[in-house]
Amino acid sequence: MTELNDLQFDLEHIWHPYTSMTKPLPTFKVKQAYGATIELEDGRQLIDGMSSWWCAIHGYNHPELNQAVTDQLHKMSHIMFGGFTHEPAIELGKLLLQITPPSLDKIFYADSGSVAVEVALKMAVQYWAAQGKKEKSNFVTPRSGYHGDTWNAMSVCDPVTGMHQIFGSSLPNRLFVPAPQVGFYDEWDQVDIAELEQTLAEHHQSIAGLILEPIVQGAGGMRFYHPEYLRQAKLLCEKYNILLIFDEIATGFGRTGKMFAWEHAQVEPDIMCIGKGLTGGYMTLSATLTSKKVAQTISQGEVGVFMHGPTFMANPLACAVAVKSTQVLLAQDWQANIQRINQQLSTHLQPLSQLEYVQDVRILGAIGVVELTFNVDMKTLQQEFVRRGIWIRPFGKLVYVMPPYIITENELKTLLQQLVEVVEQMEHSA
Ligand code: PMP
Repeated sequence: MTELNDLQFDLEHIWHPYTSMTKPLPTFKVKQAYGATIELEDGRQLIDGMSSWWCAIHGYNHPELNQAVTDQLHKMSHIMFGGFTHEPAIELGKLLLQITPPSLDKIFYADSGSVAVEVALKMAVQYWAAQGKKEKSNFVTPRSGYHGDTWNAMSVCDPVTGMHQIFGSSLPNRLFVPAPQVGFYDEWDQVDIAELEQTLAEHHQSIAGLILEPIVQGAGGMRFYHPEYLRQAKLLCEKYNILLIFDEIATGFGRTGKMFAWEHAQVEPDIMCIGKGLTGGYMTLSATLTSKKVAQTISQGEVGVFMHGPTFMANPLACAVAVKSTQVLLAQDWQANIQRINQQLSTHLQPLSQLEYVQDVRILGAIGVVELTFNVDMKTLQQEFVRRGIWIRPFGKLVYVMPPYIITENELKTLLQQLVEVVEQMEHSA
């Protein structure tokens, strides 16, 4: 009875992501989660295929991460970052500089992925303004990108599948180039970069930066593209005096098989955003990193300061668990583990490409994507997955998984077998 009442309250009063308040998609009440298991209120257990949208890389209720939060809680849960600093922020900074591109040297802690993107865009604009180039304030980005839901982050999301249709002229007008077409495993074709070159040549005087998700375009279509695109983009940015901004919010912390996706191309950006897996999914925290050059230029400009300072900047609880999460990752042979997941994904998912209504199956690192030829009915499919004891949240034509790294071989096998059965049975209804 109580559970029914609770769900009714949720239904009537609480907004969930990207849903209608009057006709919401069904939600399932979670009692607890541990390892790769999500336990519902009614006792049903689901194997997690989503890592809570990329972030719970070590699974749930991890003893070491729990301990890190508890220890920090007894010292202080929060303290303003204006005028103060603390050990978790410093320790995290030291760790981050070890694992991010060598030329990045300055760290700005922010609250969420979207805010990290806002910060990156603001940095780029201030960088040029500090040099008296206020006209360099726009951004260029490939289509099919996704960078978050706040105002400016939205403006650089794909203009068709993103939110431009709803927010229209209230969004700043960005420059869009075609999404990279050459796949990660395909042969490079220079044509893929041609339109970016043309756009930069025409508009470089008004462009502050090029923002993109390196290698994996996530929420904009789960597309994996060729590393050469990044190398060429970097050359063009240098040629036309444009800052290169990598959004590694989804791709970070080992997910693509490298610690960060830039390593696939060995191309260093001027500014980089990280988030999601940063705290192992425990708390919201992100960071925007940049080079000495960008930071010094901003700091020597007329304004002399970087104009951003969120209330919860460098929250100590979040930083403490981020330190632990990163240490836990670095302490293991994570590459071998991602490889193990990768192989299982290939074994189970690749055969689906034989089905006539499967457009493509692609796998990179610990990400497995099945792209169909039609849009799925998310509500029906989600319920079917739950009935089968797995947690997968498809969108559009995509059924995809990015499980927590601690998932066992057996758990992953069950997850994938169930996924495969569901996709195979679509044949009857397709
Ligand atoms: N950038 C990318 C590449 C993302 O995948 C996301 C989240 N899906 C964001 C930015 C926004 O992060 P957040 O939801 O934490 O604001």
